[in-house]
Amino acid sequence: MSVKTIVTEMEKEQQAETESLNLFKSTQTIIQQALKKLGHNNEMYDLLKEPIRLLTVRIPVRMDDGSVKIFTGYRSQHNDAVGPTKGGVRFHPEVDEEEVKALSIWMSLKCGITNLPYGGGKGGIICDPRNMSFRELEGLSRGYVRAISQIVGPSKDIPAPDVYTNSQIMAWMMDEYSRLREFDSPGFITGKPIVLGGSQGRETATARGVTICIEEALKKIDKQLQGARVVIQGFGNAGSYLAKFMHDAGAKVVAVSDVYGAIYDPNGLDINYLLDRRDSFGTFSQLFKDTISNQELLELDCDILVPAAISNQITAKNAAHIKAPIVVEAANGPTTLEATRILTERGIILVPDILASAGGVTVSYFEWVQNNQGYYWTEEEVDEKLKKVMVSSFENIYQTSKSHQVDMRLAAYMVGIRKVAEASRFRGWV
Ligand code: GLU
Repeated sequence: MSVKTIVTEMEKEQQAETESLNLFKSTQTIIQQALKKLGHNNEMYDLLKEPIRLLTVRIPVRMDDGSVKIFTGYRSQHNDAVGPTKGGVRFHPEVDEEEVKALSIWMSLKCGITNLPYGGGKGGIICDPRNMSFRELEGLSRGYVRAISQIVGPSKDIPAPDVYTNSQIMAWMMDEYSRLREFDSPGFITGKPIVLGGSQGRETATARGVTICIEEALKKIDKQLQGARVVIQGFGNAGSYLAKFMHDAGAKVVAVSDVYGAIYDPNGLDINYLLDRRDSFGTFSQLFKDTISNQELLELDCDILVPAAISNQITAKNAAHIKAPIVVEAANGPTTLEATRILTERGIILVPDILASAGGVTVSYFEWVQNNQGYYWTEEEVDEKLKKVMVSSFENIYQTSKSHQVDMRLAAYMVGIRKVAEASRFRGWV
């Protein structure tokens, strides 16, 4: 092989890796594979590869210093053949159109996996809530609802919390929508404070769902949660509650991280201390002198690894060095397609994001049902119903992966896309 050919090969490899780092493109690739496996034709792929509706809005907000700042936001609706679209709104400086589109497709898949009567939706605003006051955030939340009000509603498209949005933001959004429509509309949005029609168990739902996936995965390799060593990347809503659930169940959380770094103790960390000291954006590591990097954290010796932070963390570069026999993706897209292949070939059980993080939208559905019927359930009822949904979703995907001899990510896409495709066909769209 000449030097020139080697360089071209390297370029090709790099290109392939960059390709799989693009969330939207890799989502489309797996959707295409899943539809093919299910026997659907190219027209179906053509319908489902893009959202049916995407709205871009510009939101003026009066800032505390008297100036006006214009923010850009999006709402993407992937497909509403199954029912109204559903999905969170994220506030983040790196939000972009493609990401929002990909995440709305993921919501269709999550709702398909858990068999909820929804299609997928997603919203986002380019902003940095860490540098905004409460007053400015309220203005932005209300402005966003006014800007998208035409295309959302309790039986059209139902928003929810996501990265850097919380129950207070949901409360402002619900209030703005109710004012616009001139009637109380708790079913317009989920993830609300309990006093405004929120559901018991919603705050902890994503972490509960991840916990159930961990328990089910452990059963497959005849291992117990008691005493298992757990590493969690990220200490936001999912990561922090998960650390608590793991700790309470007798597992040993040996490492956790935030955006600045990670802390590690092979004897187990004091989770209650960390929960107490973290701020609302999940940061705590600056309290410590001896930290390790997020990359080092991923390669630690442990029984369960949970990437619960951001995308593209496990790549072709570090997949061979992952030591955990079980990887449960609580974040969106933490593992690239190439890394998925490497981990699966190494016999590691990889529970894909669209399954592992589906607890949030499942309890959001319970919240919406309770709002619609005006009758509210106890936390025990919610947890029990969530457990049923998560256990059967896990089993369905695990069995699909075995019977079709595909990795669990492709299996999850197959299970997730089936309902949307069938509903679109019955409606005569394809
Ligand atoms: N943002 C969460 C997700 O990505 C929850 C969505 C919802 O509750 O509708 O699954």
